[in-house]
Amino acid sequence: MSTPSVTHAPELPAETEPVDLSHEWVANAQVKIDPKTAKIADFRGSFRTKLEQRIDVLDVMCLHCRRHFEDVADQDCEAKIDNQHLIGGDQRERPKRRKERMAANAVIVPGPRINRRGIDAVLNREA
Ligand SMILES: [Zn+2]
Repeated sequence: MSTPSVTHAPELPAETEPVDLSHEWVANAQVKIDPKTAKIADFRGSFRTKLEQRIDVLDVMCLHCRRHFEDVADQDCEAKIDNQHLIGGDQRERPKRRKERMAANAVIVPGPRINRRGIDAVLNREA
């Protein structure tokens, strides 16, 4: 006599901590710099400011959702909820791109082989 098999319900995910949906603010700024610092900033992409240097802020925006502080300061960060607003909507619902179809009377004319890779491609590039 076989014992009846016991089926277990799938375990529910444990209670998770609430997700932090707050924005991470960044400031786009302009900083006056001397020529030496400009050279460093151009080369490294960063530089050190003087202590207590005042920085003029152009605008403040969220690092993730790229929205301005004044527009979304009182809302949750949409990028942490769903960032589809940045990629043009739900990609499952968008129609696929249509391929261009050649005209019925089109003829492919073979041309010379063009090298598009390596240094030779750059040196032989026609303007
Ligand atoms: Zn945000």
